[in-house]
Parts: sequence; structure tokens; C-alpha cells
Amino acid sequence: MSNISVFISEEKLHNRIVELGKEIRSDYGDEEIVLICILKGAIIFCSDLVRAIGGKTQLEFLSAASYGDSTESSGKVDISYKLSQSLKDKHVLIVEDIVDTGLTLSKVLEKMSEEEKPKSMKLASLLSKPSRREIDVQIDYLGFEIEDKFVIGYGLDLAQNYRELPYIGLMNG
Ligand code: 5GP
Repeated sequence: MSNISVFISEEKLHNRIVELGKEIRSDYGDEEIVLICILKGAIIFCSDLVRAIGGKTQLEFLSAASYGDSTESSGKVDISYKLSQSLKDKHVLIVEDIVDTGLTLSKVLEKMSEEEKPKSMKLASLLSKPSRREIDVQIDYLGFEIEDKFVIGYGLDLAQNYRELPYIGLMNG
């Protein structure tokens, strides 16, 4: 693992996620929040975030893939999901690992609001790369803004590897 350097440490991630959880819970009061975790990248962030939010929460999963095995977006987004409930009249919080061009999230938000018609829908993303944005998406709860670097770890992969790293890392060389 010597070719990977720590970009955002485990401690920094933890502290920021605890802050975000408190902020989210305080915004929603005692209302139930349905978190929709975007697989696979957001799985680790989502599992920490849901515990940081606490109170009445539910978890659903949606799969969105825009990157193949490369580090450049293919420009096409495949979205599939099978929910265990209707989201009509629910407060939905979409949970994503990183917003890059914004393509994935804009498609997910569009599809969810058209097909599910929730009472409210917000977005939490661990990371954002604003300099790469092609489509504007409103991130209601953001962990960290980062520069245009390809990051791995804490759920984020390179060709399906490195998701298990407890920190956000950078490949050297
Ligand atoms: P977007 O549609 O916003 O361009 O891309 C979003 C998806 O691209 C993310 O959910 C993530 O899977 C992938 N992605 C974007 N930037 C990075 C990155 O720096 N590292 C990794 N591992 N995936 C990224």
C-alpha cells in the first residue's frame, strides 16, 4: 500500500460525518428520513452517516454506474433500484460518495422525483469536485470540496479495488 497516500484521514472523515449527521437531524427534527444509498461507492459513507444522524431513519439502495473500469466517465448512467416501500410522502435523502461532472446525480434526482414523488428530496455527498462540474446539482450536505484529483478508499474504487481503505487516498505515480 506504499503507493497510496492519505488525502483525507480517518479522523477527519469521522469528525466531519458526525457534524453532518447532527446538522441533518437538527434540520429534520423528529421526522423520519429515508436514506437512499447510491451503490456501490456510497455504502461506507452511508453506513457511518445513518448512525451519525440517528433517530427515525430507513435505508434503501439504488445502483448507479457511470464509470467503467477507467478513471474517466463513460457519459452514460445506468440506474437500477428496487425499493421496499413507496417514497410518496417521505423525506428522502440521497447519499452519494462524490459529485464529479454531476451527470449521475442529475439523472438520479430526475428519475426519483418523477417516479417516486417524495415529500422532499435532498442530497448528501461526501465529496465534490466543483471544477469538474458539467451539470449543476445542489448538494445540501457536503463533506469536503476537493480539487480535480482521482481519489480512492472509504467506498471509492479503482476498478473495484481499494473500497476498504478507512481513509480517502491518492494513488502516487
Ligand atoms: P459524475 O456523474 O458526477 O461525473 O460521477 C459520479 C461518479 O463517478 C461517482 O459516484 C464515482 O463513482 C465516480 N467518480 C468520480 N470521481 C471519482 C474519483 O475521484 N474517484 C473515484 N473512485 N470515483 C470517482
